[in-house]
Amino acid sequence: MDIQFDKDHLWHPYTSMNNPLPCYGVVSAKGVQLELENGLQVIDGMSSWWSVLHGYNHPRLNQAIKDQVDKVSHVMFGGLTHEPAIELGKKLVSLSPKGLDKVFLADSGSVAVEVALKMAIQYWQGRQQPQKTKILTVLNGYHGDTFGAMAVCDPENGMHSMFEGSLNKQIFAPAPITPYNQPLCQQDIDNITQAFNEHHNELAAMIIEPVVQGAGGMRIYSPEYLTLIRQLCDKHNVLLILDEIATGFGRTGKLFGADHAGICPDIMCVGKTLTGGYMTLAATLSTSEVASGISDSPAGVFMHGPTFMGNPLACSVANASLELIMEGHWQNQVAAIESQLKLGLAPAAEFDAVAEVRVLGSIGVLEMVKPVDMASLQKRFIELGVWVRPFGKLIYIMPPYCINEAELNTLIDALITVARES
Ligand SMILES: *Cc1c(COP(=O)(O)O)cnc(C)c1O
Repeated sequence: MDIQFDKDHLWHPYTSMNNPLPCYGVVSAKGVQLELENGLQVIDGMSSWWSVLHGYNHPRLNQAIKDQVDKVSHVMFGGLTHEPAIELGKKLVSLSPKGLDKVFLADSGSVAVEVALKMAIQYWQGRQQPQKTKILTVLNGYHGDTFGAMAVCDPENGMHSMFEGSLNKQIFAPAPITPYNQPLCQQDIDNITQAFNEHHNELAAMIIEPVVQGAGGMRIYSPEYLTLIRQLCDKHNVLLILDEIATGFGRTGKLFGADHAGICPDIMCVGKTLTGGYMTLAATLSTSEVASGISDSPAGVFMHGPTFMGNPLACSVANASLELIMEGHWQNQVAAIESQLKLGLAPAAEFDAVAEVRVLGSIGVLEMVKPVDMASLQKRFIELGVWVRPFGKLIYIMPPYCINEAELNTLIDALITVARES
């Protein structure tokens, strides 16, 4: 593999072009194993940034793409439609919280968030409240890398502080602090209630990642917070957008983050795991009421239409992945991962270098006291036979659901080893 060409010419995310962090060549992958070009096999703890569910090179997912490629790989979605998109729409409507029954197929998570924000703004134009254009969110959030999405990411740790001057100014409330299993603390109630009281006239929507804030800090919070914001949104005529791009399809132990609180948002974004980690595809779901509001707006139609909207190959592999989800094994798999993570990571809480251990569903997090050195830790993890990419103060894993007990033990041991050495 011409790693030197890669180094000289290819951008990789969040690293310098002139002096990039080392990059490892992957030649193949199967199950939870990545095969590196030097012949090393490493266990993937990252699910390729949260997206792989059933493992790499899955026979049923492979077959779905092979079957579709011989029929049609892509057609425009303007004026044309196809079986894979219709099938996917049916699955998404039946799996998602009851009430969400309109589906917009987008090409990535960030685009799905842009679509959600635009839907909310156009909705209020159709309900004679065109002044409702602002978005409320909480600190420590992450919603993507495009401009609309960046404007609702954490202004400091959301990876975009350098663009602040070019972003729409949105409304930020403090992030919820009540832990998962506890009744909502007064401070959380007061902070968010105050934000709604002050800003509801200008608010089109509130957007939040349910139960787990991902790339903005791997923070896990009480589902009661979701119940409260649902009530506040109803009371103040504000739409609720749940960004389930990281939490969707079982990652947190429930099918969706929203299910921890039993609420239904007005708009919901899914992505990452939608194709089981095979291809880029996302979706923005909404209620009929949101769709009606948009139809009643002066434009009369929703103004967004990506070239690769509803790509048949991506839809067909998404259908295969969702069929596996609907067979239900994920529930036992994620529950087993959760117990093993809780047990295995617990000793790290005693280490001086570790500030906190957090586990929910198939997500395990060590928050360190100090920021970690990503390049050296990555190298160390490879030596230990695993692929783990920490950031900031966080060393975390969220393996594919198909990981077995021995493989997960290897991952957990690697985390414990690295934390002990820190
Ligand atoms: C990754 C992520 C996004 C952005 O998705 P992309 O496909 O990378 O554009 C948005 N929201 C959340 C919660 C995410 O984790």
